Amino acid sequence: MPGKWTVRADRRLCMGSGMCAAVAPEVFTLEGEHASVRTPETDEDARVLDAADICPAGAITVREAGRVIAPRP
Ligand code: SF4
Repeated sequence: MPGKWTVRADRRLCMGSGMCAAVAPEVFTLEGEHASVRTPETDEDARVLDAADICPAGAITVREAGRVIAPRP
């Protein structure tokens, strides 16, 4: 059974580029000038990792069982 990932977007860092919502709109949405995570506990989805990787502010963190798996080094 696939695990759940914990997704966070730090509103203090987010610069509102909207890239996360473009890549994974089921998971991220823009509320005003900041990203909001629709599904903080989300199914495994490579697009969520991509969103964390491309976030220009480094605001997105994805964890699996407490371990940070994105952004990837
Ligand atoms: S990609 Fe990063 S900076 Fe852009 S809206 Fe999403 S969290 Fe904010």
